[in-house]
Amino acid sequence: MLIHQFILQHRSFSQVLFYAMMIISCWGIECIICVTAKRQKLSHTFLNARFIFTALPIQLFLTGFVLLIVSWDHNHHWGLINYIPRHQNKWVYYVSLFFLLDLGEYIYHVTMHKIDFLWKFHLVHHSDLMVDVSTTVREHPGETCVRVCFLMLWVFLLGPAIAVLMLRQVFQTFFNILSHTEFRLPEKLNNVLGLLFITPNLHHVHHHYKLPYTDCNYGDVLSIWDRLFGTYQQLPRQETSFGIDTHLDPTINARFISILKIPFGKLERK
Ligand SMILES: [Zn+2]
Ligand SMILES: [Zn+2]
Repeated sequence: MLIHQFILQHRSFSQVLFYAMMIISCWGIECIICVTAKRQKLSHTFLNARFIFTALPIQLFLTGFVLLIVSWDHNHHWGLINYIPRHQNKWVYYVSLFFLLDLGEYIYHVTMHKIDFLWKFHLVHHSDLMVDVSTTVREHPGETCVRVCFLMLWVFLLGPAIAVLMLRQVFQTFFNILSHTEFRLPEKLNNVLGLLFITPNLHHVHHHYKLPYTDCNYGDVLSIWDRLFGTYQQLPRQETSFGIDTHLDPTINARFISILKIPFGKLERK
């Protein structure tokens, strides 16, 4: 069986495998080249890794519905993307679709920050006092539900081709993991790549503990939406401090159950 046929037939498995391999590789490199104390890094990783077991079943279950919606859209020729004629110029169609899917992630992320009820779930991700590659998986299961449901809605509206949706998911996984690593790009390289893409340097600013930086650099793969909608910010690493100002208590952050309970507590607005 050809590799691409195997990947298409085992989409969820292939994506989880790619995700796991990339996280483990980045974690290994972080251990070698970064200065964080190994013991502290291990306990931090074990804490965040527990979120995999609450999020993964939800993610895999709901992804089946996303694929059903894609299939329904395709069978009914439904979706905004059909207004761009695919047969005339394939590349315009594919690039437009890629950008529109990324715009959806930007809108989703802004929504999670701006609506109090949703912010209570998303702040679990922001409450991490030490951002490294394990922060990628630190997502409350409630947010996993909301995120995939939003994707269902966006996919329903757009009617994307499955191949482009899958390709974007690969890009998203790649950028999402890299942007949470402890790696930093040299300033000049960051200035060039950051013109189009979200880099680790830019996402670190989003994890700064207080406003206005928390509400900036919402982009997922592309940084152009932040530039376009005025939410783009830069901050040097030495001035960046991770966490969220309403939840800086390390005792809450030390226990998995306490973190899971965060959305059900009283909201102090950031
Ligand atoms: Zn955020
Ligand atoms: Zn993040």
